[in-house]
Amino acid sequence: MVDLERQQAVDLLCYNAEDTAERYNATNTFKLNKMIYIGKGAVLWSVKARKMMTVIDDTCGQHDTLAGCCSIEIDKVRYDVTNTQSCQANFEPELKKYGMGEKDIAANINF
Ligand SMILES: [Zn+2]
Repeated sequence: MVDLERQQAVDLLCYNAEDTAERYNATNTFKLNKMIYIGKGAVLWSVKARKMMTVIDDTCGQHDTLAGCCSIEIDKVRYDVTNTQSCQANFEPELKKYGMGEKDIAANINF
């Protein structure tokens, strides 16, 4: 991922392609990395406490896995807007391609 114009964010979901019930898990990632933010060297751990990905380099700084993704509902509360294209709305059609849906949206990483 390259942040071309700064101030950009990428919301990332991560699943095991062989078994999509195994997915990225923020709390296992906190516990096993012993840090709250994701950065260089951080391992992204699954719900089954298995390594899914490793951040091999990072020129941006720390990345958040606490705040989750935006949605139409939270944008209404935070910004009083109802007509934004949310990250959750972007996730849903992509997940549908793999037989998943809204219930499969786990905590994401905001790179
Ligand atoms: Zn968003």
